[in-house]
Amino acid sequence: MQLKKLTEHIYYTPNNPKGDRPTLGYIAGNKTALMIDAGNSAAHNAAFLEQLRKNGLRKPDICVLTHWHWDHTFGLHALNMETYAHTKTNEKLREIAKWEWNENAMRQRLADGTEIAFANENIRAEYADPQKIRIIPAGNEIQEEITFDCGGVTCHCLHLPSAHSDDSIVAFVPEEKIVFIGDIYGDDFYNGHNRNLDKTKSLYDRLQEMDFTTAVPDHSAPLLKAELLDFLGRFAAQK
Ligand SMILES: [Zn+2]
Repeated sequence: MQLKKLTEHIYYTPNNPKGDRPTLGYIAGNKTALMIDAGNSAAHNAAFLEQLRKNGLRKPDICVLTHWHWDHTFGLHALNMETYAHTKTNEKLREIAKWEWNENAMRQRLADGTEIAFANENIRAEYADPQKIRIIPAGNEIQEEITFDCGGVTCHCLHLPSAHSDDSIVAFVPEEKIVFIGDIYGDDFYNGHNRNLDKTKSLYDRLQEMDFTTAVPDHSAPLLKAELLDFLGRFAAQK
């Protein structure tokens, strides 16, 4: 894992297809540091925190989740800091916190469609013993928007429409024109990769009016605003 510097106050660790580990973001304010997403396990975010330490950066004070999917949230229990998530993210995390992780329960969820094969395979790749999985909700909830004044930079965490997941939050830093977008531009993995075009069009409109140059997604390299809008625009044009 390598920490990359994007702008003066913004860093991230790239995604890793092994175990489907997503990008983790870091916003280094003068008084508050923010972490975007909790990672897929305690091991994942421990490696991230170690990278920060090695680079002389402070431990984050706050972690904000982009949405409930396992790869972004299963590391949350290991983070000793303030945590934030959308209300719907927490609802879902409370629901899946009741899941059992023995072989029978995992197979049953695959059979009845509660879980998808892609997540199941990657959970098994990340966890030698899935029974060690521990899921908790975030300590604080976001309805539509929350702004953190980090000192020198601000972070607007906004709930935006998404075909990927209805609880999606983006973290926008206007001073550096960067937005962390999680998986917001994807389709619905838990519904046969269906893409709701109304939600995609609404997302396109909201992103278009935001003043950023670069978007940081959770499963690929950062991309320019024009590239992101071009991608979403092809679906939005079908409306
Ligand atoms: Zn996702």
